[in-house]
Amino acid sequence: MSKTEDSYLGDGVYASFDGYTIILDLRGQDSFTRIALEPIVIEALNRYSEKCFKQGKAMKTCSKCKGKGSYFYDHNHAQPCEQCCLHDKGWWDLSPEHHGSYIEGEDNGCCNAGCGKLRRDIIIENGELNS
Ligand SMILES: [Zn+2]
Ligand SMILES: [Zn+2]
Repeated sequence: MSKTEDSYLGDGVYASFDGYTIILDLRGQDSFTRIALEPIVIEALNRYSEKCFKQGKAMKTCSKCKGKGSYFYDHNHAQPCEQCCLHDKGWWDLSPEHHGSYIEGEDNGCCNAGCGKLRRDIIIENGELNS
């Protein structure tokens, strides 16, 4: 397959396809900057943009942190906002010393991003997880 016609994406960016890579031509910048993206990179870019937009949207509509993504729970300490946190940094397990939160035999996963949310609470609220 030979290279397709350039199609205009917007913001001075043209895209074409050579059968394997998607080539971005950044004519808005200059006349020679071209980036060839392999499928795996496009997929990573899609996942990245999806995540950014999701987080951006969540933060924009968040009443708790007013779009900052974190808030101060006292004068000196900030924590990631649990309302717009995507909880996508993995999980650590609470130990029995975490009184009040730890439940024997239950899912004791706690958000690694540090927002303080428990995995079992999120599953109850949303019915699913991002990661
Ligand atoms: Zn928030
Ligand atoms: Zn979280």
